Amino acid sequence: MLDNLSSRLGHLVKTMRGHSRLTEDNIKDALREVRMALLEADVALPVVKDFVANVKEKAMGQEVLGSLTPGQAFIGVVNDSLTDLMGKQNDALNLAAVPPAIILMAGLQGAGKTTTIGKLSRLLKTEHKKKVLVVSADVYRPAAIEQLRLLAEQVEVEFYNSNSWEDPVQIALDAKEYAKKHFFDVLMVDTAGRLAIDEVLMEEIQKIHAAINPIETLFVVDAMQGQDAVNTAKAFDDALPLTGIILTKMDGDARGGAALSVRHVTGKPIKFIGVGEKVTGLEPFHPDRLASRILGMGDVLTLIEDVQKGIDQETAAEMAKKLHKGKGFDLNDFKAQIVQMRKMGGIESLMAKMPGQIGEMSKHVPEGTAERAMGQVEAIINSMTAKERANPALIKASRKRRIAMGSGVTVQEVNKMLKQFEQSQKVMKQFSKGGMGKMLKMAKG
Ligand code: GDP
Repeated sequence: MLDNLSSRLGHLVKTMRGHSRLTEDNIKDALREVRMALLEADVALPVVKDFVANVKEKAMGQEVLGSLTPGQAFIGVVNDSLTDLMGKQNDALNLAAVPPAIILMAGLQGAGKTTTIGKLSRLLKTEHKKKVLVVSADVYRPAAIEQLRLLAEQVEVEFYNSNSWEDPVQIALDAKEYAKKHFFDVLMVDTAGRLAIDEVLMEEIQKIHAAINPIETLFVVDAMQGQDAVNTAKAFDDALPLTGIILTKMDGDARGGAALSVRHVTGKPIKFIGVGEKVTGLEPFHPDRLASRILGMGDVLTLIEDVQKGIDQETAAEMAKKLHKGKGFDLNDFKAQIVQMRKMGGIESLMAKMPGQIGEMSKHVPEGTAERAMGQVEAIINSMTAKERANPALIKASRKRRIAMGSGVTVQEVNKMLKQFEQSQKVMKQFSKGGMGKMLKMAKG
């Protein structure tokens, strides 16, 4: 998938050399390659434009760390942007409703709705131990109801019978009633698809949606649709409050662009991908994994990670040396430490990785608290002059007021931060005999 991107960028990794910083000039060719590769992969043009702009913004002025080549540093940026574009992590199904949790499936004919219902029912039954009922509100295609019945039989979930002369809204309502009465956890509702979007179809599914109030409204789309997937996704997203997307036929020779476009256009998470015709062919969608698969450069990404870690070690060693020489630990070092911690995944993840008491403690800190506090400390330090950072003793009342104004905090908060810094200075003295490096190693585990 998106093979072109990896081969095009692979070439760049080797040829972009001799720069210590990514600049508009040295990334121009690289950006063009990304743009071409995405277009070739069938990503919709507006999406390509946004993406390239995002990569450019992130890359500009970025330093090329340690032993990385500029090409490799650039790949790191593309990888981050790809992950951003597709959502950061997997979004699971939301089934937190008064039972039954209703899942409504929407999409064009042939997208894979019925097949996906079979797959999802199986997953919910076997892995989540849910009692699942399925029903078809597709009264137009004679074989549709029968297709779902056979699938239900195959995956051994209950099938609620419907007939082609019935009203689709009524079918859905009756099935919901039945599911309630018989204590089903989940009800999956299949709907009719057309070959193209039409108003009657949209109105009907809107009515079904209003009548049964599903907790999940999933838009099923064929990855092979390429550019067209964008228009279909947009039409369905406008008509229905979609909660997620399922991208089918990702096992085929789809160029993969749909995955990027559909997410970007609707802003809705891709929850699963279909990877085969069998009932087992469904996988939770992991944006980060797809990003590195698209780049096809797992090794480069690992290298980037390693170099980032390596840099941290160097900084730590330098700091230890400085302390050893008797030169004081100042606010510049303090700030460098914060930056370093962020590079290693933030203070919270760092704390969680620590052995013993600190690791244990981190479980009790509300999420985000430590990161926010760190952000504030950094803002305060940023508002200081270089002299003040090097010699915090200079910071008296009027300077404190200026710093507080500059960083949008109160004078008390500046005082608190300076106190913290003093404590940290003491700790650093203890670590000065090589302890800092040891601490970082411990955290990496
Ligand atoms: P519906 O009209 O949206 O209900 O679509 P169907 O569920 O009937 O699927 C249409 C065709 O696509 C069938 O032949 C399925 O076997 C096939 N299909 C569905 N999902 C996948 C998938 O993930 N991979 C592959 N290779 N085929 C799929």
